[in-house]
Amino acid sequence: MYTNNFEYLDPKTPGEAFEMASRLGSKARIIAGGTDLIVLMKDKIISPEYLIDINDIEEFKGINYEPGKGMVIGATTKIAEVEYSEIVIEKYPALAHAAGELGSPQVRYMSTIGGNTCNASPSGETPTPLVALGAKVVLSSAAGDREVPLENFITGVRSIDLKEGEILAKFVLPEPSPKSVSRYAYMGARDAMEIDCVNMAVNFELEDDKQTVKNVKFVMGSVFVRPLVSKAVPALLIGQKFSDELVEKAAEAAQGEARPITDVRASEEYRHEIVGVLARRLLKEAFAAAREV
Ligand SMILES: Cc1cc2nc3c(=O)[nH]c(=O)nc-3n(C[C@H](O)[C@H](O)[C@H](O)COP(=O)(O)OP(=O)(O)OC[C@H]3O[C@@H](n4cnc5c(N)ncnc54)[C@H](O)[C@@H]3O)c2cc1C
Repeated sequence: MYTNNFEYLDPKTPGEAFEMASRLGSKARIIAGGTDLIVLMKDKIISPEYLIDINDIEEFKGINYEPGKGMVIGATTKIAEVEYSEIVIEKYPALAHAAGELGSPQVRYMSTIGGNTCNASPSGETPTPLVALGAKVVLSSAAGDREVPLENFITGVRSIDLKEGEILAKFVLPEPSPKSVSRYAYMGARDAMEIDCVNMAVNFELEDDKQTVKNVKFVMGSVFVRPLVSKAVPALLIGQKFSDELVEKAAEAAQGEARPITDVRASEEYRHEIVGVLARRLLKEAFAAAREV
């Protein structure tokens, strides 16, 4: 299994990378960790003439949190760094949890958070919690930056709203509301190195009475062509007192919205069932956590 011959480019600054990306256009691909890209090249699914390695560019790396403002995560930040970051664990636990479930330690130390989003696999681990947390992506090029909500950036299976010459530079996450909690859940065929057959994330907040749902953003992965932001679950929960009956209705509503397919990982019917199981589990877990803050 060999890749095609390609020229390897190693820009050191954003300006150099933007110049290469715009000059080479569709002949080039950005490479970050390479854990998706190289597999596709070996399978001859893509054969780029140039690879632009963006790992040496300081401006695309790292995790920066500013109290009251939120967090910026550089696109080439390794998944393992997100997994173990104390501030991510504290402020955005759903994201840290998801990062820790991606592949194996070897994969997590090579792969990047930007690569996980740009690969745009419906079963991708981190886009689901990032969307639930309200993340935006900053897309940079020689012409400047544009900021897009992540839920609009991923447009379909392996399809993203990235224009020629643009590079995903960073993710911007808003400061979480002080009383909110975020949680992540997933199911795969086995418990090691599996790709999820369903994943799910929620950002959840209670009113001061610790019973009434104030806010909820509920997102499902691997059940649609891109992360699916539920409309029905917030419509049912917000303003209502949390109860087992309400959770049951919410789980059914999530099942009604999900559009899973049958593939090598799971059947449509199994995924449909798992949406209900995970929704119940996740909402109850988020409710219990929100009562404690
Ligand atoms: C053994 C194994 C297990 C895995 N398990 C999981 C799993 O459990 N869950 C999961 O979600 N994924 C899994 N993956 C897939 C993969 O590891 C992740 O999707 C990873 O986050 C990709 O990141 P990367 O940096 O390696 O991306 P790359 O392979 O470098 O790039 C992926 C794609 O994104 C583009 N790209 C990368 N960065 C940018 C950028 N900044 N701007 C524009 N375009 C960019 C590339 O051109 C390419 O098209 C697994 C892979 C392997 C090999």
